[in-house]
Amino acid sequence: MPTVTVTDVVVTTRKVKLPAICPGCGGRLRAEGALRVWGFVDESRKARLPRASDDAMDAVAGIILGDAGYDSGETFIDNVSVMCRRCNRALAEGAFTVKPAK
Ligand SMILES: [Zn+2]
Repeated sequence: MPTVTVTDVVVTTRKVKLPAICPGCGGRLRAEGALRVWGFVDESRKARLPRASDDAMDAVAGIILGDAGYDSGETFIDNVSVMCRRCNRALAEGAFTVKPAK
């Protein structure tokens, strides 16, 4: 029986106050396009279990991908990081932690 690795994701949010002026470069952060916001997207794609003839390099987390392209974007985890687009100063950052496998 094939074994796959699955990931448990727990998302927590908190409020962070942002300045109207970037402390790094003095840029106006209310201006259009002044910020760069990073997030994560929950996506799905077609996949299948491995076959004996498959190249091991195609394996990702124990699943052989039948189609590497994403076929839907379901959920956004937004504002993981907020940066000044002009000087790249981090204005707010969420924590991203990977715990060792049990
Ligand atoms: Zn800046």
